[in-house]
Amino acid sequence: MVRRMSVKPTVLKLGGSVITNKEKPLTPDLQAIERLADEISQAKVSSLILVHGGGSFGHPVAERYNIAEGFVDPSQILGFSQTHLAMTLLNSWVMEALISHNIPAVEVHSSSCVVTKAGRIVNMELKPLKKMLKMGFVPVLYGDAVLDAEKGFAILSGDQLVSSLAIKLGACRIIMGADVDGLYTADPKTDSSAHLIDHITLEELKSLKHKIEGSKATDVTGGMLGKMLEVKLTIEHDIETVIVNATKSGRVYKALKGEKVIGTIIEKGETVE
Ligand code: ADP
Repeated sequence: MVRRMSVKPTVLKLGGSVITNKEKPLTPDLQAIERLADEISQAKVSSLILVHGGGSFGHPVAERYNIAEGFVDPSQILGFSQTHLAMTLLNSWVMEALISHNIPAVEVHSSSCVVTKAGRIVNMELKPLKKMLKMGFVPVLYGDAVLDAEKGFAILSGDQLVSSLAIKLGACRIIMGADVDGLYTADPKTDSSAHLIDHITLEELKSLKHKIEGSKATDVTGGMLGKMLEVKLTIEHDIETVIVNATKSGRVYKALKGEKVIGTIIEKGETVE
């Protein structure tokens, strides 16, 4: 029997830097995973999709076999399997924590239901996901090695999954759990003068990107740049995004509850004609 009416889902991303120790290969941060499972369980969101990153699990293996380059050599085939295996190991830790906190989580492996073309999602089997949401399950996806129509295979980032799922499933909100407080004027890890941007509109985000392309004021780099490029797509669909620090206790909980929280709100804002 269908348990719930169709409520617009919230998409929560837990960054790989949050749930793993990035310095040590194949090392989950079990304390962080447990705490986040508890926060998610306490927040009792009525329709939720979870996506997590790879951190020290997927990335080192994918790099060793150049999976992101696509298929060029048969030796990469085993590397694809190993990358996926590493991700399923991390996913198992997350699943165990979620289910032990009574969250009805079910993992969905993107390697089995997504095909990309030149690294962008072109096919995704959504029926099981929609049905899961309707019944009150929490689907859990993660960045993964996937098959690619042009390159043979590709690495699908958790961030692309977030934007694609949010758009395709008509999400009401995206919450990005990162290892920094939000979007800064520069990388806070390398620039001590960087300050947190608490609110930004699509127009402002576009001009920020312009600055990046103009190369001088390299404001947003690395993982955060990838996130912002994905967020730009979702904001165009009017889906509000909040970036919070998921390594700090209570931030994800507050964001899920819609409470005021330290972080960056990105929304469409007024369009200037
Ligand atoms: P995750 O693994 O959580 O998905 P990443 O490590 O890939 O996240 O990306 C987040 C990182 O991006 C931050 O830890 C930070 O060092 C970096 N970064 C670069 N520029 C910025 C910026 N302008 N604001 C915030 N973080 C930034």
